[in-house]
Amino acid sequence: MRKFYTTLLFVGLSGLCFAQKTFIHCGTLLDGKTKNLQSQVTIVVEGNKIISVDKGFTKPGKDDKLIDLSKKTVMPGLIDMHVHIESETSKDALVKRYTQNEADVAFQSTIYARKSLLAGFTTVRDCGGSGVNISLRNAVNAGTIVGPRIFTAGKGIATTGGHGDPTNGARKDLMGDPGAKEGVINGPDDARKAVRQRYKDGADFIKITATGGVLSVAKDGSGPQFTQEEVNAIVEAAKDYGFHSAAHAHGAEGMKRAVLAGITTIEHGTLMNEEVMDLMKQKGTYHVPTIIAGRSAAEYAKIPGYYHPLVVPKALEIGSKIQENFGKAYKRGVKIAFGTDAGVFPHGENAREFGYMVEAGMPAIEALLSAMQVNADILGMGDKLGSIEKGKLADIVAVDEDPTKNIKVMEKVVFVMKDGVVYKNE
Ligand SMILES: [Zn+2]
Repeated sequence: MRKFYTTLLFVGLSGLCFAQKTFIHCGTLLDGKTKNLQSQVTIVVEGNKIISVDKGFTKPGKDDKLIDLSKKTVMPGLIDMHVHIESETSKDALVKRYTQNEADVAFQSTIYARKSLLAGFTTVRDCGGSGVNISLRNAVNAGTIVGPRIFTAGKGIATTGGHGDPTNGARKDLMGDPGAKEGVINGPDDARKAVRQRYKDGADFIKITATGGVLSVAKDGSGPQFTQEEVNAIVEAAKDYGFHSAAHAHGAEGMKRAVLAGITTIEHGTLMNEEVMDLMKQKGTYHVPTIIAGRSAAEYAKIPGYYHPLVVPKALEIGSKIQENFGKAYKRGVKIAFGTDAGVFPHGENAREFGYMVEAGMPAIEALLSAMQVNADILGMGDKLGSIEKGKLADIVAVDEDPTKNIKVMEKVVFVMKDGVVYKNE
């Protein structure tokens, strides 16, 4: 018996002493939190964690591994606060809603998940789908499929006929009356029920569609679609369950109601006026611009027959405004969180958003940081994600050039590590 324990002790100790570490030599390091780039830094990874970040290139031990990124710019894994991982834009998107089974959605979403991760997005917030996104998150966490960490809203919450009502545009007998479970609410009681249902479903946060939207088969793209009482009920109930909340909003009135209710993030913010900007500053609300979605939708709208006729004029109108207004909000001091609405354009192209942010007047370094520590904090993961620091999870990506000098280089991520595992090293 004693011998058995001795052996156990020995194995335990040797395990501790000789656990393989990975030394990453970084030519330049962008730490995710500060605006200063450092040159020649070594990140040491053990298991799924960063155990040290040291100046200079330190030599690995003989059992350790070296990853040479000494000619690259290294940074924390990117975080996109607005994706729809289950779907991707196509001419027949509307038909698919009635022909695809959940299993079809699930299989295709695994491809989008992989694309997002390989583009350097090691974490995404899914802003609403059929509910398959919850299973997808679980499959990624279990290691069954390759993808980014997913924080998901499950099914978004809308009002009858509003943006996100899953039966919009359907034949009368298929329209039905979806109800709170499917995310269609009317009145504060329904609103609370929908939040509680999402808690039961296993969602990570709450997403509402506070105003009309561009891609829904409905006429109005910007008017408010919830009463103040309904939004208040949603945000209050969300807080009870530890959820943060996000509101899709194009028009100012719907935005204002959501901000007053205490929503965490405003998505798109297309027609945000100065009153709303100041209210957001006062309440600490984040703006998730999704410029690339506005621009992409405006492009697709020019292709005859690509969108439903009700969608085309909305898409053409929103496109340019979203970028222009983002510039105004940034300059006025509204807090900015990086998000793209991937799915409205092909997954994996998320990083194009950085270029649009810079084009609108945001300095490149600030645009980059908005996809790092800023977003990690919103997700309540600030102590685990968002920066290259001792004790954080080893989500690390790299590009060939200094992105503060050439932001387009973010579209060609050459190295991806998530949770200490390398998924790409070109
Ligand atoms: Zn969206």
